[in-house]
This record gives sequence, C-alpha cells and structure tokens, in this order.
Amino acid sequence: MSGHGNARALGVGLIGTGFMGKCHALAWNSVRAVFGDVPPVRLVHLGEANAELASQRAAEFGFAKASGDWRAVINDPDVDVVSITTPNQFHPEMALAALQAGKHVWCEKPMAPAFDDAKAMTAAAKQSGKVAALGYNYIQGPAIRHIRQLLAEKIIGDVNHLRIEMDEDFMADPDALFYWKHAATSGYGALDDFAVHPLSLLWALFGRVSRVMCDMSKPYAERRTQDGGMKAVETYDSASVLLHMENGVAGTLQVNRSAWGRKGRIALQIFGSKGSILFDQERANEFQLYVTADRPTEQGYRTILTAPHHDPYGRFIPAPGHGLGFNDLKIIECHELIKRIDGKEAHLIGFEDGLEIERTVHAMARSFSEQRWVDVR
Ligand code: NAD
Repeated sequence: MSGHGNARALGVGLIGTGFMGKCHALAWNSVRAVFGDVPPVRLVHLGEANAELASQRAAEFGFAKASGDWRAVINDPDVDVVSITTPNQFHPEMALAALQAGKHVWCEKPMAPAFDDAKAMTAAAKQSGKVAALGYNYIQGPAIRHIRQLLAEKIIGDVNHLRIEMDEDFMADPDALFYWKHAATSGYGALDDFAVHPLSLLWALFGRVSRVMCDMSKPYAERRTQDGGMKAVETYDSASVLLHMENGVAGTLQVNRSAWGRKGRIALQIFGSKGSILFDQERANEFQLYVTADRPTEQGYRTILTAPHHDPYGRFIPAPGHGLGFNDLKIIECHELIKRIDGKEAHLIGFEDGLEIERTVHAMARSFSEQRWVDVR
C-alpha cells in the first residue's frame, strides 16, 4: 500500500454507532484530510443492532451499505478493516470472527471481560498476521507524546514516583437507570472501563506494571430499571491501587466513575530527581513542567501550551495554543493504525500489549478479592 498514488482504497467496516462508533466514523472520514500520507478510505459497510438504525447511521456517517447483522459487515469482501465499537461483551466474538475472515481489527477497549477471551483474541491476531489494535486514544495526545520525549531526555532526571487518577461523573447520579455498564457481563467496571486508560498511559510512558494492591467500592448497590423495578449493580465504580512498575518506580492509581464534578479527568503527576511534570486530560492542550535547573528565584511550574512543534498537532492546525479535542485523538489513532497496516512503525497498542493491560486489570481484581499484594506475571 506504500506510495498511495494508485493505492487500492482501504475498505472500512464499522460495528456499533454509539459514543465510540461515531468517534471512529469521524476518524475514518478525516484521517486522509488531516494526514495526507494514507491511502483513500472507502466507508463500505456499517452494522448496528437493527437494520433501521444501521441505515440511518450509514446515511449520516457516509457508509455505502448498512446491515442489522454484524456478520454481514465482517463477511463483506470489500471490507479490509473493521472498527468494533459495541459494548465490551461483544468484543471477543466480533474480533475473532473478523480476524478469521482475514480483516484487520480496530477494537475498542477493554479487549474482553474475561482474560481467557483476551488471550484467544491475541492468539488469533498473531495467527492471522493481520493488524489488531485497541482504542487507547489518550496515548495519542500531543502533550502526552511530548511528555514521553521529555522523560526519555531525562528533563526531570530519574523518575521515582507517579500518581495517576481518572474521574468522571456519568455514574454519580443515584437515580440514573441501570444499563450495560452496571452488569457483570461488561467486566469489573472501575477496572476494565476506567483503569485500563491510565494503564495505557503508564504503558506508553514507563512500560509494564509488576505488582498491585487494589481496593474497590460500589457507591450504589442497586439501580432503577426502565420498568420501574430495582436491580443489583454488579460492577464497581471506584478503585484505589498501589502499584510498582517493572522499572522500579512506585505509584498510585485511582479511578472513580461516580465523581460528581469531574468530567474527563485523567490526572498524571510524575516526580523525578530533577523536577516534575503534571498533566490533566480535562486540560489536554497544556501540561506543567517544574525543573530544578531553573534559578531558585524563578522556580515554579511553567504551563506549556501545545503547538505545531508538538507532533502531530501541526497536521491539524498551523497556529499554537488553539487546541485539539477528544475526537482528534481518534483521528491520530486511526493514522497510526493505517501506518501499521502499511507495515510502518506505529505508536499504537496492539492486542499483544493490550493483553498486558488486561493481565494487570485481572491482577488488580485478584488483589481485591484476596485482599493482598499480587504479582502481575
Ligand atoms: P454505546 O452504548 O454508546 O454504543 C454501543 C453501540 O453498539 C450502540 O449503538 C448499540 O446499538 C450497538 N450495538 C449493541 N449491540 C450490537 C450488536 N450486536 N451489533 C451491532 N451493534 C450493536 O457504547 P460506547 O460508549 O460507544 O462504548 C462502546 C465501547 O467503546 C465499549 O467497549 C467502551 O468501553 C468503549 N469506549 C471507549 C472510549 C475511549 O475513550 N476509547 C470511550 C467510551 C467508550
């Protein structure tokens, strides 16, 4: 596919059109316009839970065909790559079927509620030789990518402690109805819904986690159902984890889906021997840097605004400080996916690395149920 002059268009299938489905559709629609260096993209086939919704969304998103049966998307010979954006419980079956049909896969996080399914997905990806990537968009932010570079340059010396927190309030209302994220079929909740995102950042910046000690809580034991009844909540909303990285750095991870007032917080504090770095996804177009090399009279946090020299910000906007948004992260992720399909180096979490995130999450769950420190491997 290299060169892309007369390249065959990349045929895209999309399954699911909720929050993430729309985000993937926007990415597929924009990736060539933003980056230029990718083949033409053809929006071939969209699948939804029923034919009517599928047709409506296909018309809105620009897909040529629509189907109420996801298998029709996967078996379409014009589809080369499938975006899977359905609830967690469907990921294993859909990803396995897509890989078996010889398609590349771009699956939303988490891989699967059950670790054995995530293992089977990883094995199938390896066997197929196809690209299988996960939706860990936060590693793509220009500020995060730049922090990664600063850490490699040791601008804050040797890192010795980190703290990462993810908080939102979409489950904070005790009167909100029971839905799929409250059911055990989606996994543990706080861990696979939330902790996986901070873990993707830790993976990008520091590598693997080696040991964990985890506590979890469930602020509301029951939720109202659509028919006026009550149903027991089967997932946890918050988790507090002590952790050690394989590189020796110790830290903490805290997540909460019921944190009133927090909307999209992923707050990272990194402390080193010569300074520190602070980042918060709610203010993703900036980060704070403190370096002891500054004169004591001018020491303090400097706010650095993202700009065209923070790759790939400049592909979107030529002016500094104007800012990218959440959907732009998916466009960058889509670009990385196409680079990997093209056989190039890509900054992307594939199934193999994703499995390590799943392994960590399941070690956290084990730590909670056994009330002790657990080694991840
Ligand atoms: P959602 O409920 O908004 O959308 C899910 C969609 O899947 C709906 O349109 C639904 O009709 C469709 N669907 C359900 N069953 C289907 C089936 N059998 N066949 C075809 N379509 C079906 O959910 P969401 O918030 O978009 O979450 C979807 C996935 O994305 C989850 O795995 C979630 O963890 C992940 N997610 C990732 C991020 C991120 O930042 N990367 C953010 C939110 C959600």
